[in-house]
Amino acid sequence: MDESSTDRAVDVLTSHEAQVGSLTVRRALPQRRRRRRTVGAWCFADHMGPADVTEGSGLDIGPHPHTGLQTVTWLIDGEALHRDSLGSEQVISAGQLNLMTAGYGVSHAEEATGHYRGTLQGIQLWIAQSDATRDGSPGFEHHAELPRLEIGEASATVLIGDFNGARSPASRDTTLETELVGADVRIHGTSRVALDPTYEYGVIVLEGLIELDGRELGPGTMGYLAPGRDEMTLQSRESSTLIVLGGVPLEHPVFMWWNFVARTRADIDAAYESWRNNDGRFGKVDSPLARVETAAPYWRSREG
Ligand code: MN
Repeated sequence: MDESSTDRAVDVLTSHEAQVGSLTVRRALPQRRRRRRTVGAWCFADHMGPADVTEGSGLDIGPHPHTGLQTVTWLIDGEALHRDSLGSEQVISAGQLNLMTAGYGVSHAEEATGHYRGTLQGIQLWIAQSDATRDGSPGFEHHAELPRLEIGEASATVLIGDFNGARSPASRDTTLETELVGADVRIHGTSRVALDPTYEYGVIVLEGLIELDGRELGPGTMGYLAPGRDEMTLQSRESSTLIVLGGVPLEHPVFMWWNFVARTRADIDAAYESWRNNDGRFGKVDSPLARVETAAPYWRSREG
């Protein structure tokens, strides 16, 4: 494809639906058919809900493992309970951020809170870790307070990185080949948002309807912008909620299988075996939900 012809245009990508735990999600990343697997180091984006949850039924994602990535959980409605193999037990509410670093291995569960009943909606994002930290230590942070700023007729909350001059306290993998940013934007009019020309961007609409440089975007779509721009114009006639992701394009493709990011198939095979055999690499999550199991990687059946 001739990239130069699309440099300035907004590329509109349609999310596909998937089932995660008890919720239907709209998956904006990765987009295998469109060959848009990442935006910067962002390698996964699931818009969860809106769904009705009860005290005893929520995300209902049992203990499962991760390697080589950071999970970013951001709710716009409701509450959920995070538990992980580091011993963390944290209720996350709308407007708060959970950041979990997998490194060599962590496992976690996402459950009902035991008290919240109502609407649950949010986004779960993954950041691919770099070669330098992929085999490093796991970690977990919760941020109840994040910087907010007004940008024209929009208000933004900075989740990760630096957005229009405000910086999130959430720690990032500082050795990533790439810088990156993630922000929640609530818009009710017109907003001209400053961009970093070295970044590519994805604008994911969670609620409402916006125009990005004249292209209409609603829930279930992501507007992609190639590097080289220093601003974008967002317009909305109704109150709309967006997630803006950005980062320096990765030099090497991310290798993902199931819940793992790794360098090689051998690394994935090892992670799969560790989870299947429960050998301690992923620790133990104190959760009433059943462990999530999966079939072996597809390449193993070929090897017979
Ligand atoms: Mn997970």
